[in-house]
Amino acid sequence: MLEIDGLGAAYGEAVVLRDVSLSVPAGRITALLGPNGAGKTTLVKAIARLIPISAGSVTLDGQDLQELPIHRVVEVGLAVVPEGRRLFTQMTVEENLQLGAFSKASRPQAKTTMDLVYDRFPRLKERSAQKAGTLSGGEQQMLALGRGLMAKPHYLLMDEPSLGLSPLLTTQMFELISSITELGVGVLLVEQNVAKTLEIADHGYVLEQGSIVQSGDREELLGSERIREAYLAL
Ligand code: ATP
Repeated sequence: MLEIDGLGAAYGEAVVLRDVSLSVPAGRITALLGPNGAGKTTLVKAIARLIPISAGSVTLDGQDLQELPIHRVVEVGLAVVPEGRRLFTQMTVEENLQLGAFSKASRPQAKTTMDLVYDRFPRLKERSAQKAGTLSGGEQQMLALGRGLMAKPHYLLMDEPSLGLSPLLTTQMFELISSITELGVGVLLVEQNVAKTLEIADHGYVLEQGSIVQSGDREELLGSERIREAYLAL
């Protein structure tokens, strides 16, 4: 379980997250919903220690991430697929994947993991020697996800993976995310596409103005008047 308890974060004087608590179980998809500017990306960065937190704690299978040197965060099993992909566009698909397995824990298994990633994403295998910058938007998003998996994470934080994808690719992306849980990986999924997200999520939280204002399992969220009006336009 990845547990966030009472987390706070700020950019200088501007407090962005207040007393945020949520749990991401292994092998499940947990959705994080909320309007633009609510603090979702900030939360992802704070969990992964890409920015400092001002209060609270993040524990991964009982281990307090704040107590670890930053490079150990990936080694104990946390990976991020950031918003906007952040690929090395001048490097090949395969080189980008190899860079995902940079931690000491994942490096020895890089070849096996790459076979698994190629198995799941045959399109990436076909294009393994192609420069990442020449891939289509959907393929780049697949590569970003593949690179995240190369770290052999127990928990994967995904920030807006469907951003900029066509409806068809969005559907494929959601199928891929759903299939990741078969590997036992717990996913925290930040998404604007609430309808699709609630098709695959087991549980979800709503973040508004830096605070969790609602949570529940899929059925509860789908049945919620507030979610239907604000996020599903029903
Ligand atoms: P979106 O869906 O639009 O990406 P979000 O929910 O991910 O929104 P964040 O990107 O976390 O929201 O931003 C939350 C707030 O923090 C916003 O008011 C934003 O302007 C502010 N913010 C984000 N990054 C910084 C930064 N580096 N410095 C100062 N303020 C920031």
